[in-house]
Amino acid sequence: MSVNVTSTSPVFGSFRLPPSVKGAPRFRMAVRSNVVSVNAPILTKLQQECATPLPVLRHVAGAMTADMRAGLAVDGGSDLKMILSYVDSLPTGNERGLFYALDLGGTNFRVLRVQLGGNEERVQATEFEQVSIPQELMFGTSEELFDFIASGLAKFAEKEGGIFHLPHGRQRETGFTFSFPVKQTSIDSGILIKWTKGFAVSGTAGKDVVACLNEAMQRQRLDMRVSALVNDAVATLAGARYWDDDVTLAVILGTGTNACYVERVDAIPKLQGHKSSSGKTIINTEWGAFSKGLPLTMFDRDMDAASINPGEQIFEKTISGMYLGEIVRRVLLKMAEAGGLFGKAVPEKLSMPFVLRTPDICAMQQDDSEDLQAVESILYDVAGVESNLNARKIVTEVCDTIVKRGSRLAGAGIVGILQKMEEDSKGVIFGKRTVVAMDGGLYENYPHYRTYLQEAVNELLGTEISKNIVIEHTKDGSGIGAALLASANSKYDHDY
Ligand code: ADP
Ligand code: MG
Repeated sequence: MSVNVTSTSPVFGSFRLPPSVKGAPRFRMAVRSNVVSVNAPILTKLQQECATPLPVLRHVAGAMTADMRAGLAVDGGSDLKMILSYVDSLPTGNERGLFYALDLGGTNFRVLRVQLGGNEERVQATEFEQVSIPQELMFGTSEELFDFIASGLAKFAEKEGGIFHLPHGRQRETGFTFSFPVKQTSIDSGILIKWTKGFAVSGTAGKDVVACLNEAMQRQRLDMRVSALVNDAVATLAGARYWDDDVTLAVILGTGTNACYVERVDAIPKLQGHKSSSGKTIINTEWGAFSKGLPLTMFDRDMDAASINPGEQIFEKTISGMYLGEIVRRVLLKMAEAGGLFGKAVPEKLSMPFVLRTPDICAMQQDDSEDLQAVESILYDVAGVESNLNARKIVTEVCDTIVKRGSRLAGAGIVGILQKMEEDSKGVIFGKRTVVAMDGGLYENYPHYRTYLQEAVNELLGTEISKNIVIEHTKDGSGIGAALLASANSKYDHDY
């Protein structure tokens, strides 16, 4: 089904009852039309409040640019922390040897090994494993979480063989991708500022996460050194740059969201005395904390208030995978309560926070069957909801409204960063090919999200400039990226 979501009036003009319903008893007709007439105003209001026409996008992009500058001027100068990554040199392609990477995201934990063969042979082989992070560990102690990570890594390292080869007498080295806000103190140390994305692990905030991991590796008797601590955006940038010199910006759209980019050291006023041989460094924006000019609704405010970090990560709560499904659930619950969307009773399961996940709303939006069968079965399986066709159409409109807003705002954020870089060095970004490396399960799996994001970028930049800006999905780039950064910061002499 193609859903027209841009029009805000009259939203239900195209909703026709299917032929089978025409002959149905009067009573059912009344119920169905009631679903539409009562919920139409709620949907219309939602669509108006979530609308992201060009002026709103421009305003958000401009606020992002301004907040970046404020965050670069002084620590604490803006919502954006603009954290120094201590990554001053990006991969060249010459890297050689066996390196590991581990990645703690919001949903998954991944381990990877890569055998790098220098400029000629590049990536000779990779192996990886992925497990989802058990729910209880998200609310447990720091030791429990890090023991889980170290033991997964130890088991994976035991299976090393074949082409993977560590020169005699060397210690294994790993990159550690840790996708939570960290105050980096060097390339291989950093203090956790706070957990995000629903994590509430006790005893980690204020501690060096590399020390936490090292202690856990010792407990697991795993002899491995963390030679680079990076977040997923920085690792993605490094991984993508290994293949393509035009990559200057990386964005993560997964459970949470973040962005980083290559900045000139002399454009960072708060940085005094930092030496970088390249004159450049990667800045981790932590843009999930951005909050200016976003079109928000009561559903967003209620979700925020009920979250474990109220008032924080507002951009993340509007655009990232952890929250889109939950916002939709809150809208549907309101429609069920106030507008009888699913009949007289309000389905009990629909009151459960996070019961509707972003992959569910993605699957519903992709249902192009005439009677929206997939929507029907997802609503039934996930929320125990019985729905008629009109209700299902409303549900897909709600999904589309929330996803369109999130993805277009993500696009505006990207343009905000590009704009900042262009303002500082005219022509360097817009006047030539510039690649935005993109990773994360949301971007990867949600076709509507990708399309809307690209549309917003095109609208903001105009046809000519947007031809130069390439948004590229670099799948698993962050794994290789972290391993490459481990190689760049190896304690051993480089073989090249
Ligand atoms: P992490 O953020 O833990 O590193 P990912 O980058 O793999 O993990 O992103 C996982 C997130 O991607 C999920 O929380 C979900 O929001 C989103 N996602 C995963 N699969 C889909 C899908 N099929 N459709 C839409 N979103 C999805
Ligand atoms: Mg990730």
